[in-house]
Amino acid sequence: MNPPIRFACTGCGKCCTGHHVPLTLAEARQWAATEGQVVVLIEGFVSDGPGMPVDQREHVLGRSYPVSCGAAELRVSVTFAAFNPGRCRNLDEHDLCRIYETRPLVCRIYPAEINPHLPLRPENKDCPPEAWQQGPELIHGQMLADPQLVALIAASRQADRDDIATKVAICEALGMNTSALKGNGFTAYLPDMGAFSTALEQVASAERAAWSVHVVDPALSAKLLEHGLRTTAETPQYYAFIGF
Ligand code: SF4
Ligand code: SF4
Repeated sequence: MNPPIRFACTGCGKCCTGHHVPLTLAEARQWAATEGQVVVLIEGFVSDGPGMPVDQREHVLGRSYPVSCGAAELRVSVTFAAFNPGRCRNLDEHDLCRIYETRPLVCRIYPAEINPHLPLRPENKDCPPEAWQQGPELIHGQMLADPQLVALIAASRQADRDDIATKVAICEALGMNTSALKGNGFTAYLPDMGAFSTALEQVASAERAAWSVHVVDPALSAKLLEHGLRTTAETPQYYAFIGF
């Protein structure tokens, strides 16, 4: 059995710098209402086809939503995240969070993982070595030791599943309808936040859109076309393609 992993936050503030923090729909609404910028990250896959990580099937299906793409159905996963290219705007000069009591779920969960298929690896986290040498047990026998943390992660996963239909409708209302193929990259949009807030309130009446998958590799594009998907390799104007 692996030795337990201990953890106590040192308050270094590194996890609040240079990380786009995934937000629930309610948190994205709050972020927008307080003049924050949201970045929208999109990846898609075909059920039992390209992009589907078979070992994560249940997890990825639950947090995805079907859209029309060419002659086929694509399932897209959409992340709304606080756009933090540098220091989070809520991090004060003492590296303390100004909204600590109401900070997003993901901020409360870090450094634990939300994806049940990702094991926690301290070497992949921003926390300094001393953070892992003190405090209570975080992981015991590959299980999270803190029931409150377990509950927060469950709430985050549930929000992913509950929010996905609305998030896709918002994307469609704002013309954000090019995905990347899961495992090949993702598309990243920085929507106008006024339009984003309006779409948040109006999604119920939005019409469904036709989607495309942004693919650079011609061979991969040909494979997706065989599945009936519509692809694009045009230089994006509205989004960035971040390939793997
Ligand atoms: S909201 Fe607070 S805890 Fe979350 S990244 Fe910003 S400063 Fe850090
Ligand atoms: S990087 Fe780790 S130790 Fe530093 S503030 Fe974030 S959670 Fe705490």
